[in-house]
Amino acid sequence: MEKGFFNVPIAVNEQVKSYAPGSPERAAVLETYKNMFNTQVDVPLYINGEYVSTGNTRTMSPPHDHQHVVGTYHLAEQKHIDDAIATALEARKTWSLIPWEQRAGIFLKAAELIAGPYRSKINAATMIAQSKTIHQAEIDSACELVDFLRFNVQFMTDIYMEQPESTNEAWNRVEYRPLEGFTYAVTPFNFTAIAGNLPACMALMGNVVVWKPSDSQVFSAKVIMDVFEEAGVPPGVINVVFGDPVMITNTVLSHREFSGLHFTGSTFIFKELWKQIGTNIHNYKTYPRIVGETGGKDFIVAHKSANPKHVATAIARGAFEFQGQKCSAASRAYIPKSIWNDVKNLVIKDVKSFKMGSPEDMRNFITAVIHEGSFDKLAKYIDQAKNDTDAEIIVGGGYDKSKGYFIEPTVIVTTNPKYTTMCTELFGPVITIYVYEDDAYAETLKLVDETSEYALTGAIISKDRYAITQATEALQNSAGNFYINDKPTGAVVGQQPFGGARASGTNDKAGSAQNLLRWVSPRLIKETFVTPTDYRYPFLGE
Ligand code: NAD
Repeated sequence: MEKGFFNVPIAVNEQVKSYAPGSPERAAVLETYKNMFNTQVDVPLYINGEYVSTGNTRTMSPPHDHQHVVGTYHLAEQKHIDDAIATALEARKTWSLIPWEQRAGIFLKAAELIAGPYRSKINAATMIAQSKTIHQAEIDSACELVDFLRFNVQFMTDIYMEQPESTNEAWNRVEYRPLEGFTYAVTPFNFTAIAGNLPACMALMGNVVVWKPSDSQVFSAKVIMDVFEEAGVPPGVINVVFGDPVMITNTVLSHREFSGLHFTGSTFIFKELWKQIGTNIHNYKTYPRIVGETGGKDFIVAHKSANPKHVATAIARGAFEFQGQKCSAASRAYIPKSIWNDVKNLVIKDVKSFKMGSPEDMRNFITAVIHEGSFDKLAKYIDQAKNDTDAEIIVGGGYDKSKGYFIEPTVIVTTNPKYTTMCTELFGPVITIYVYEDDAYAETLKLVDETSEYALTGAIISKDRYAITQATEALQNSAGNFYINDKPTGAVVGQQPFGGARASGTNDKAGSAQNLLRWVSPRLIKETFVTPTDYRYPFLGE
């Protein structure tokens, strides 16, 4: 029981370190990278705080060096999923009842472990597993995950403080109960921070979790589990299972006590899971919460007043950092004819200056894409653009998977605003540009709004405030995160809550109190001080 109204530490964003040559953090992460790259790790399932080895294993290899093995991980069978669910439900009996400040203490500790002693390890693991440059690893696996953990504690107390009015006769209180049953986190490969946050934020609110990470992120997911364990997450509160996503999901979603899905990944999979939950709805004890952040076809619109350098830099960073594998990555751009030549020359110059290779060589801005499936898909679209008469590749277009899955950053220019790569999420270092007539600004904004099923991020670049206003209004439903004079990527927890609508997800804004509200079920308690003793109201008098 709490014995005080506690203030939590005021959340501050973790400072991004530079990793410049000669800096201590650069030396530390490179040494850790070498150690982790050259030793083999065995990653078990985590069920009830125990390491479960199933004997059925798969190897893990860095995308930039796919013949090199950095370890193995164990695949679950159905009985392991049943165990994970049973153990979570058992753990709920105590976890859902402990005072909130004890839960907060655990996750605040996890944040400081990542910011300090685990920083090199979680960054090196993300460089190896997901082929992130050190800067991309630092802003994701270290800083963003730390921010999620710190800010969520603050958001939790903000929620708890939200209370109804009371009177002298009755005291009204709202308790923010965890969901009844257990929750399910399904996470993507591309952000270690999202992988950690999805299970952690549900657990913070008192829920118990079965977490299924992406096969391509197991190596860094292990570091997250090491941190959670050291921070003191009790056995059974977060259980981790790897393996066949269909078998795992079928088992979870057919359980009567399933009460919430926290998903980040592709749109098609999310819609399928939603459908499955709908089909099972009569079996559940409660209506499950469904939160999903999914795909994007994120845009940059330049107005004729824009500075070509601003536009080119937004494209270079927004489209190509982390090989375009951010859900927010710019993948279509609309540039007015009058500035196109300048923008084109600057973009070509920037892209030609990118170095590509292993993240261990810190001069590289571009590394490999996540796996062979992604490589082959991207190569197919690039080949198609080489053959199509309404598309032209102005820079890039090469690819090579002999050592790692390397796709050259590629810029396609099309004369067809509905060209396939203007509409489809490719999830790689490819951007398609449509050049429009300067005086067709309004029509172009309409085109931007209508071209894709997604509505995740987008940017307007302009010096003209009327043009900015026009775009802000015309594109109000086209993006959940809308940027003015900036690239459409790089949301920071506590500053730019993140999420999109339409086919991009339920827009429950990761990194905000809104998201945490989905993981509680409020109970109103009204306590009356002087209880009535007669049912008759005055109006009933003679
Ligand atoms: P993915 O959909 O392939 O995988 C996501 C998760 O779903 C993984 O854990 C995977 O194993 C699991 N999964 C795959 N098939 C499944 C099935 N049939 N049943 C149940 N689970 C299944 O996505 P990914 O390649 O890991 O990530 C990239 C996608 O995620 C992109 O579409 C990107 O836009 C999106 N994404 C969105 C956001 C956002 O905030 N909107 C953030 C990151 C990534």
